[in-house]
Amino acid sequence: MTLIRFRASQEQNVDLSQTYDAVVVGSGAAGGMAAHVLTSQGMKVLLLEAGKKIDINSELRSMEWPYDHPRRGDAPPGYHAIRFNEYNVRKPPYAKGSAFKHVFSYVGGWGGSDYVKNILVDEKNHPYTGTKYAWVRARLLGGKTNIWGRLALRLSDYDFKGKTHDGYGEDWPISYADLEPYYDKVDLYLGISGHKENLAHLPDSLFQRPNKLTAAEVKLRKSLATMGRTLTPYRAGVTTDGVKNKYRSKCFGRGACGRRPGGCDIHAAFDSPTGLIYPAMDTGNLTLRTNSIAHEVLVDPHTGKARGISFVDAVNHKTYEAKAKVVILAASTLESARLLLLSKSRQYPNGIGNSSGHVGHNFCEHVMGPGVTGLVKEMVGAPPTLDDGKPGGFYVARFRNLQDKQPGFIRGYGFEGGSGFSIFPDSAWNTPGFGGQFKKSVREHAGAFISMGGFGEVLARYENYMDLDPEVKDGWGIPVLRFHYEFSDNEKKMCEDMANAGKEMFEAAGIEVVGVDKNILTEGWSIHELGTARMGTDPKTSVLNQFQQSHDVKNLFVVDGSSHVSASCQNPTWTIMALAWRSCEHLADEFKRGNL
Ligand SMILES: Cc1cc2nc3c(=O)[nH]c(=O)nc-3n(C[C@H](O)[C@H](O)[C@H](O)COP(=O)(O)OP(=O)(O)OC[C@H]3O[C@@H](n4cnc5c(N)ncnc54)[C@H](O)[C@@H]3O)c2cc1C
Ligand code: SF4
Repeated sequence: MTLIRFRASQEQNVDLSQTYDAVVVGSGAAGGMAAHVLTSQGMKVLLLEAGKKIDINSELRSMEWPYDHPRRGDAPPGYHAIRFNEYNVRKPPYAKGSAFKHVFSYVGGWGGSDYVKNILVDEKNHPYTGTKYAWVRARLLGGKTNIWGRLALRLSDYDFKGKTHDGYGEDWPISYADLEPYYDKVDLYLGISGHKENLAHLPDSLFQRPNKLTAAEVKLRKSLATMGRTLTPYRAGVTTDGVKNKYRSKCFGRGACGRRPGGCDIHAAFDSPTGLIYPAMDTGNLTLRTNSIAHEVLVDPHTGKARGISFVDAVNHKTYEAKAKVVILAASTLESARLLLLSKSRQYPNGIGNSSGHVGHNFCEHVMGPGVTGLVKEMVGAPPTLDDGKPGGFYVARFRNLQDKQPGFIRGYGFEGGSGFSIFPDSAWNTPGFGGQFKKSVREHAGAFISMGGFGEVLARYENYMDLDPEVKDGWGIPVLRFHYEFSDNEKKMCEDMANAGKEMFEAAGIEVVGVDKNILTEGWSIHELGTARMGTDPKTSVLNQFQQSHDVKNLFVVDGSSHVSASCQNPTWTIMALAWRSCEHLADEFKRGNL
């Protein structure tokens, strides 16, 4: 792609005339980790972030009570969040023709949320096309880590060696033993709270103080233990005992991170700016340029190596070049694939790093929707407790297709859940009556509900892919992604099992089941997109090697979730960061040896 190029820019006082040791694209979990590891190894790094740097604390306003907000936290008129039916009845681009001035993904709640209106992308400027897909994007310094759900889980060899276990797909080119030391480093540097369970399929982290389970959660945990299943306190990417980092404080349990998509403005919950980027800037080795939308990896025509990044300034729409000896993409799974595909040249007519033709393919994620809600009768009328003052409820670890073999599907799922008193008792919506009796009933029942929803592995399949739309462009003239993706029978059968198993588990625990949800949410809903530039040992069927280094271009690395070979059912962010740490340590070694 050719846009008019401008020479070195003085905007943001970033020197674009020099050649950096490395340029990193994207400042979320992956890009932040790359910046941290490389700068701590003494490399001079330029970090390009498409979004702006906002005053995140005043955006999140987590000390604000709902009743102090003029619309109870809803976005102002003119803002619209795409609803479940819109995702399914219409096809993307969802904002096309909308009468609303601003259109956002579903994640802030149906009314749209005032707290994320400057964090999520406005779909009017950021369209995509193809099959239905609920794509949640956060374009700002720190990306989605500013509002992530904090569930921080490790993968195991049931995941890394899935093919060996059940014959499907590909094994990863690494095993748990390769990544374990890097999970440990992430735990120690960023802090994680949780409780040891000694499960082979959900390895323990180096935990700080766990959050306490509520009485109802303890009841379910005890019952599940008799079934050989494990309910554990939410493993939260939150420091409860503190870490050595002047930009962060330890959790003091206000639960604000659970408000719609929350966020923690004392930064006890990990976010990339305070956890990784500001400390990296303190080394003196990191230069940050925000509002910088990368649209092409530049190539040296003589060597075929990457020589930098071409980017558009989001504000003035001019194009600039950043020069570097190593290029690291960390723009998130789908955006990094888009960038690889956009980077067409004489040497790489198919997009850079794409000699295998696998860029954009083997997309995978988590399927969700089915879940169960129950009432714990002995809790009705119990005195209120501070249950919402913590960064999460509980997690039920995978229990399917470990030693057993399920008839309808392969791989597994886990449940995220919670119970007890919340900032607003959702049950009020469905409680009949009015006046004093209504209020009494809501109060009495508020802390007695327990619910959980499943997150299941979507199989990586070559047929599920994204390419560039030949016509549609975003607000900066850059071709957008076109989705070719749908759930398979395996996911549908798994979801039937999720709903049934959830109900059985509540019944076995003596919890009255008041609702079972069997509906599958739209593709993309989990916000755990993975696998569009997978790692592997064979350059014909994979894009990256075990160090997330391009098979084709040795000084090009892609360190986000696009490198994952399969989705597992565990939330991906802690694995994204452990992998990025491992790869960047290798990168720095190779750089020092002059091998890049
Ligand atoms: C509401 C919510 C809840 C979540 N809950 C969990 C959870 O409980 N557990 C879990 O593990 N994960 C969770 N996630 C997912 C988690 O946030 C992501 O896995 C993680 O942020 C991925 O990191 P990343 O660096 O790949 O992408 P991002 O965090 O999205 O960062 C990518 C960055 O790259 C920038 N960028 C994109 N394109 C370009 C470009 N062309 N040029 C320059 N910069 C670019 C973006 O602006 C962004 O800042 C949740 C996400 C959301 C939104
Ligand atoms: S509960 Fe902890 S992590 Fe969540 S907002 Fe409060 S201090 Fe932050």
